[in-house]
Amino acid sequence: MEVTKPMPSKSKTIFIFDLDGTVTKQETLPLIANSFGLEDEINALTEQTIAGNIPFVESFIQRVAILGKLDVNEVNQLLSNVKLFEGIAEFINTRHEQCVIATGNCCEWVSGLASRLSCECYSSSAIVENNKIVKLKSILKKESIVKRYQAEGYQVVFIGDGNNDMEAMRQADIAIACGLTHYPANSIMSVADYAVFNECSLLRLLHQINHAQQGTSVVLSCAGIGSRLGLAKTKALIEVGGKKLIHFQLEVFEKVEDLRVVVGFQARSVIQAVLDKREDVIFVYNHDYFQTKTGTSFFLGSRHANEFCVAWDGDLVVHPDDVDHCIDFDGEYVGCSDIVSEDAVFIKTDDNKNVIAFALDNGDFEWSGPAKIKRDNIKYLSTNVFNQIEGLLPLPYLKIRAQDIDTYEDYKNAIKFIESWSNEK
Ligand SMILES: [Mg+2]
Repeated sequence: MEVTKPMPSKSKTIFIFDLDGTVTKQETLPLIANSFGLEDEINALTEQTIAGNIPFVESFIQRVAILGKLDVNEVNQLLSNVKLFEGIAEFINTRHEQCVIATGNCCEWVSGLASRLSCECYSSSAIVENNKIVKLKSILKKESIVKRYQAEGYQVVFIGDGNNDMEAMRQADIAIACGLTHYPANSIMSVADYAVFNECSLLRLLHQINHAQQGTSVVLSCAGIGSRLGLAKTKALIEVGGKKLIHFQLEVFEKVEDLRVVVGFQARSVIQAVLDKREDVIFVYNHDYFQTKTGTSFFLGSRHANEFCVAWDGDLVVHPDDVDHCIDFDGEYVGCSDIVSEDAVFIKTDDNKNVIAFALDNGDFEWSGPAKIKRDNIKYLSTNVFNQIEGLLPLPYLKIRAQDIDTYEDYKNAIKFIESWSNEK
């Protein structure tokens, strides 16, 4: 599409949105096909494309060849009325200088639709004769738009859902996989920083990226391989007291608005298990989960989060009566418990109820997690959360009843721990 508006220049962050299935509630090519009785041909191609058997560009050329027979104005009119995600459209329209649409679709078909969004729109284009598309003129490479803004000094956020967004998302500074209309393509999950499945959580994340937000986020780290436990499952998926540990955690965090789940090993299964119970979670990818520890997951989960972040390992079980305190505590703290674990990390304290050091040999209490830390104090680290906190000591401690699950012995203890309070009721 011709560039008709000036390039955004003032803000430092630019949001580039895919159109189909990201801003629109429907994929447009299947809609055209269904409306004009061409669904059999198009659906077969779409299925092959999604399965990865036909490259996107080839499929697009073939689909345009089939749909090109249709009257361009009629198609444009049809697409002008496609339903949009209203919150996303509003985000774009109130920040049109900071937002851009990048669609592989032809501008001859989508110009009416795009005119409902007041930002710049980049698209493919075609040669029209007698109101029919006779030939594709250009096919948009979305990554070129990303590079163009980066060259101008922008931090680029790309929001997309399909295979044809992959290169742009790999290139972008922040890549958000969007699962609002269908599960995002596998290829983009391998380059995504975030995945969202709900308009609410996408909007929350976009606002967080745009401006630092007040309040507290909970970062639940579920990326690890659970190697010491030996059950060949990431710990979020093991069953404790008749339910998956992750479902237990979701109940605990029911009242937390900004819940971020960091995923890595068995990411798809963890995401699915979460979505079975709650949709408005922000998923954060730690693709390097094998080489890194919880400190990295906490750092990644806290980027763009609210002012304070609570670090909570996916294997940490806290007594329900202590949970609210862990989240609402005023300011930074370090969570500790009586010494119960097999391989404990200990904390040393002073008379003012501060943690002054972590230790591996002995201490006053066990470092159990969670910890609440100011987002701006959380730096990248490949090791553990407590290594991250070491540089911030002294910090107040908060004593809670907790049990983490590192070893099989811990696992059995956690089951007893849960039974103990279940019996209190
Ligand atoms: Mg799409």
